[in-house]
Amino acid sequence: MPKSEVPSIVWFRRDLRLDDNPALHAAMETGGPVIPVYIREPQHLNVGPLGAAQRWWLHHSLTALAKSLKSAGSGLTLISGKAEDVLVDLARQTGARMVFVNRAYERHQVDRGIALELKKRDIAVRAFHGQLLQEPHAIRTGAGRAFRVFTPFWNALQKAGEPREPIGPPLKIPSQDHHHRSERLDSWGLLPKKPDWAAGFPAIWTPGEDGAREKLADFIDRKLQDYKHGRDLPSVRATSLLSPHLTHGEISPARIWHATRGMPKTASEDVVHFRRELAWRDFCYSLLIEFPELDEKNWDNTFDTFQWGYDAKEFRAWTKGLTGYPIVDAGMRQLWRYGFMHNRVRMITASFLIKDLMIDWRKGEKWFRDTLVDADPANNAANWQWVAGSGADASPFFRIFNPVLQGERFDPEGDYVREHVPELGNLDRKYIHKPFDAPKYVLDKAGIELGRTYPRPIVDHGLARDRALAAYKARTNPS
Ligand code: FAD
Repeated sequence: MPKSEVPSIVWFRRDLRLDDNPALHAAMETGGPVIPVYIREPQHLNVGPLGAAQRWWLHHSLTALAKSLKSAGSGLTLISGKAEDVLVDLARQTGARMVFVNRAYERHQVDRGIALELKKRDIAVRAFHGQLLQEPHAIRTGAGRAFRVFTPFWNALQKAGEPREPIGPPLKIPSQDHHHRSERLDSWGLLPKKPDWAAGFPAIWTPGEDGAREKLADFIDRKLQDYKHGRDLPSVRATSLLSPHLTHGEISPARIWHATRGMPKTASEDVVHFRRELAWRDFCYSLLIEFPELDEKNWDNTFDTFQWGYDAKEFRAWTKGLTGYPIVDAGMRQLWRYGFMHNRVRMITASFLIKDLMIDWRKGEKWFRDTLVDADPANNAANWQWVAGSGADASPFFRIFNPVLQGERFDPEGDYVREHVPELGNLDRKYIHKPFDAPKYVLDKAGIELGRTYPRPIVDHGLARDRALAAYKARTNPS
């Protein structure tokens, strides 16, 4: 076959987009037909099984990707199996000699093995940088290690210059005349059946590139100007809500970064603050690359001897949003209803699980992984370890969030609580974060009966705090 007719495989993973997709772009530059494929691997390598909320997302995201590919004259092939077997087989059927991918840093060891297997069969794998602002190896300490602290990481990232210029989506993708067999997406059973717990998700989310583009435009037009102040207030929708789109690669961080250029001067503080948050994602990935067991092992091994407790009833109350602490319950219910929780409330709920209930952070990390639409192997694990105090750049364990004070500070009117815990809807603002302190007549007026319509606190925060600090002191240093 003349070179321009040799087809190439583009293996989509967590880069479910046509826009700013370096692997797709490079495959097109060969001039030959392009075969886009998504592989359902036996398990999501290195990141454990895909969470339930993300299965819902993946179904809709793949539907959207298939549609975009179709309008560009191409199509998406869906195949189940071990990646190396699927790729070898597909290459044999189509005559492809090259596989183009964007790097997925959470599985780089596995990918290395796959590339070696393919090389043995004369199939080359070409990997591209498309998922982070900068390549992780470019942002290192003088000694060539990953930064352990965010601020020097951020300084180094800024010094590295602007992220690469994004590449526009192709209008037409050359495809092969004959079609190979694709599995039906419905047969993958990604959507929940009975009960359909994802019924509330579409109120906020439109998985796929179009949804990501809309969220970005809305953020730039309406929210970015007040980001620095608004981002900490859960009742104000001031953040971008781009996280699930980033997690599934429906938009590139480079595209987002460049979209924030040219804002009016007044917004420059907000732009810097937002870019810093985006950089946290790169930072979390650099930690994951340095320490691939980030979701399983304490970064700081002095936590290995920490005496965690586990009360199944308390854990269940936390997952259901029935702890008796309104801000915690609002967060956990937001999570269940929309597959998402505001960042400030993620910190509060995580702190409550770890420090008030003394439950191992790994149990919380797993719950979030199963229920968040943006569950991300690096961000989730690094942030749980941040809250636990066991992480690289972590909040010290002894800094324990008081759920009442946090609620009063970041949800002063109680709007967030009222939205997600409707049984407290009529409670006076003064008690909205501490119904257990309200006089009976106030509760009566609001139609609340503690222990019946809304739970009493499952732990006393003051006592729980003392217990956590004692356990922290008692841990022994293993090294
Ligand atoms: P914005 O404020 O608009 O920020 C823009 C982007 O920056 C986000 O989409 C995200 O990609 C990145 N970002 C922001 N904050 C952080 C952060 N602290 N760490 C890393 N990246 C950040 N984020 C995830 O994407 N997936 C997770 O699984 C996840 N788990 C978390 C678990 C805990 C316990 C905590 C405390 C935080 C977690 N985060 C996670 C970080 C953060 O809460 C979310 O990224 C953020 O709430 C997403 O909303 P947004 O897109 O509107 O954020």
